[in-house]
Amino acid sequence: MRKLFWLAGLVLISLLAFHFYPGEGEEIPMVNTSLIEEVQPPPDSTQAEEATAPAVIYGINLTRRLVIENKVKPNENLSSILSNYQVPFQEIDQLARKAEGVFDVRKINAHRNYKLICTEDSVAQFMIYEPNKIDYVVFDLNDSVNVYKGSKAVDTVETAITGTITTSLYEAMIEDGASPQLVDYVADIFGWQLDFTRLQKGDRYKIIYQQQMVEGELAEVGPVIGAEFIHEENPFYAVRFNQGNGPDYFDEKGHSLRKAFLKYPVKFTRISSRYSGKRFHPVLKRYRSHLGTDYAAPRGTPIRAAGDGIVTEARYHKGNGNYVKIRHNATYTTQYLHMSRIGKGVKSGAKVTQGQTIGYVGSTGLANGPHLCYRFWKNGKQVDAMKVSLPPSEPITMENKTSYDSVMIDMIDRLHQIEAQKDIYPVLAGE
Ligand SMILES: [Zn+2]
Repeated sequence: MRKLFWLAGLVLISLLAFHFYPGEGEEIPMVNTSLIEEVQPPPDSTQAEEATAPAVIYGINLTRRLVIENKVKPNENLSSILSNYQVPFQEIDQLARKAEGVFDVRKINAHRNYKLICTEDSVAQFMIYEPNKIDYVVFDLNDSVNVYKGSKAVDTVETAITGTITTSLYEAMIEDGASPQLVDYVADIFGWQLDFTRLQKGDRYKIIYQQQMVEGELAEVGPVIGAEFIHEENPFYAVRFNQGNGPDYFDEKGHSLRKAFLKYPVKFTRISSRYSGKRFHPVLKRYRSHLGTDYAAPRGTPIRAAGDGIVTEARYHKGNGNYVKIRHNATYTTQYLHMSRIGKGVKSGAKVTQGQTIGYVGSTGLANGPHLCYRFWKNGKQVDAMKVSLPPSEPITMENKTSYDSVMIDMIDRLHQIEAQKDIYPVLAGE
């Protein structure tokens, strides 16, 4: 009977798989995980034994204990949560001191999950806080007061998505089942090669990316490991590869897709003022030159260092408000104005890397609304950051060429094997 059940399950999977993906060859086997999950193995004797074993979560035995699951409410903190479960303030204080260097208890954020493991009389013995879907912090009040961190097991699933643009990249990808996070990834990767505001109807994309799964649930989208974008019938490729200083994206010739500078140092809603010799100043109410680009964005939006460099100024100035100036090399310097606040550790002499948060959008100084005023110097002269042509990042080096080429050829091969259709499905990692 059991054998029959299993056989039926297997036949069902193969029938459905075949039915959904009739065009696929044998080279890239497809597995629909959601179907497999529905076919549960029948309970047998070994599982029955497991069921009687004591339940353990986060390595903690739950026998004669209660588990209370909750989300942090606004204005709640370690102390207010634990004091509701009969933990004396003295012990909470001890716990907070033990946490130093392990986890900053001020970073317990509203809406995040936590669990309390209590005695049968609701006295908290453990609190487990989850700062994200992967990591957790255990506050142990059981024997000796202790704080330690852990991570849940993460399964990486490779997934492919493909589609055709009819309106915008965003609309197309969302319609094809992508998350906004994935659209951002793709827009970032091709940011220098493609102008996503000028895509043509009929442009196509194929993306292979990873999803990080925890306990069967999606915990994180990304990274993208390979992509093909056909714009006006010209293919653009992105292949993820690590040359030793972190993963980056390269094209089929081994050129970096990234410039030494970000195109936009902030995720903005609109450009409120462009670089110009003359403009009407909204606060000063007179004409004067505007030697920067203004990006309107909500207060608190992170501002990113456009390129690697050394901070030369990070302070308050009456006109600039809170601002940061970065010297990238002998040729390039950038400046970021009107921050609500300057990023932690960003001070004169500090080293920053491209994309690092250096501050947050605000309206300090002479500004009539939250925006970033971005200024750019080339060879000591202020220029329009939107128009200056920027140097590319380092290409694949000679010593990495052979290993990159084999990764790249394999990836482009896999991309070519994805049927150009509106669909989203897991693919097995290339072997
Ligand atoms: Zn400005």
